[in-house]
Amino acid sequence: MTRKLLIVLIALFTGFSTIAQEEYLDAKAEDDLKIYPGGESYNVQMFPQNFKKKKPKNVVLFIVDGMGLSHLHAALTANKGNLYLENLRYIGLSKTASADRYVTDSAAGGTALSTGQKTNNGSIGVDVNNNPIKTLLEEASAKGLATGLVSTSSITHATPASFIAHQENRSMYEEIAADFLKTNIDVFIGGGYTHFTERKDGRNLVNELRQKGYRIERDINVIENIKEGKLAGLTADVHNERMDKRGDMLPIATNTALNILSNNKKGFFIMIEGSAIDWGAHANNTIYVIEEMLDTDRAIGKVLEFAAKDKNTLVIVTADHETGGMAILDGSYETGMVKAGYTTKGHTGLMVPVLSYGPGAENFIGIMENTDIANKIKELIIGR
Ligand code: MG
Ligand code: ZN
Repeated sequence: MTRKLLIVLIALFTGFSTIAQEEYLDAKAEDDLKIYPGGESYNVQMFPQNFKKKKPKNVVLFIVDGMGLSHLHAALTANKGNLYLENLRYIGLSKTASADRYVTDSAAGGTALSTGQKTNNGSIGVDVNNNPIKTLLEEASAKGLATGLVSTSSITHATPASFIAHQENRSMYEEIAADFLKTNIDVFIGGGYTHFTERKDGRNLVNELRQKGYRIERDINVIENIKEGKLAGLTADVHNERMDKRGDMLPIATNTALNILSNNKKGFFIMIEGSAIDWGAHANNTIYVIEEMLDTDRAIGKVLEFAAKDKNTLVIVTADHETGGMAILDGSYETGMVKAGYTTKGHTGLMVPVLSYGPGAENFIGIMENTDIANKIKELIIGR
């Protein structure tokens, strides 16, 4: 009896201490990821705020997946106090709840921003009864505007998918890929090649796209020099890699898409996504969050360069939801160091920033529903 008890006690003790030690080691490794030590910074250009008319001809909607105010401020600190985002002087806050949840996912969040209607978590371009809803991109296309989508994730992933596909579940990647063929979209650049080519139904959508007149390119260095025509840029089998490996894919893809779309005299609508801020925040990894935020800000710089010259382009930057319950605990504008804390590995219900630049930007201030953003864009470029 005493011997048995002793064995049990020893087993319990060694077991607990091993677990405790591993937890401690993991916690330490995780803590290291919560501090961005500071790094390279870039100069930010401020652009003039004079535009041609009250209403825009073109709209660029930039979705920074998972960005709350903390992610934005972390990036601003890391870049030693400035971001291109500061050119967007009209500022609001968006309430992100979905139809069935206080805390949205990217599918319902994307669908609210693409259709102006709240739907259930997981749903792509369909309402709460799974009926398809026309998206901004589809309505703009029907109106004769050029249209585009750019993302660092697979182009079939929830955020871009919400603008072009109608499926009851975000994981139906092959069905979502097939929906690209049902539209007139002019340019899309992202990952997801295998969802077009390695399919259960045996279709090769890349060949079908080619027959519809699309140029298919997989290399961002080739995509960089394309100025016209229909383009499907599929730069990764599924998702593009993290910023340190994929390089300037997002700013380059952004530039190419704007060059192609601006050929249309009637105007254009494009949604561009910084996809991986969300993933960095899910991992509670501040280094990951900041690298992706700074990459996104540089892509926004490309959009602003175009918009400042064009004077007819409304630029809206927002998020689908906040990820990580991120807070800034310490930082330095001199070194760019940021220390963050997180309250969850999931999303939160917090309002997210809405920042705008260009003709019509004054419509996007105050506290609004995420659906208001889509409905206001509709009023400006489709209801005109
Ligand atoms: Mg996304
Ligand atoms: Zn997420």
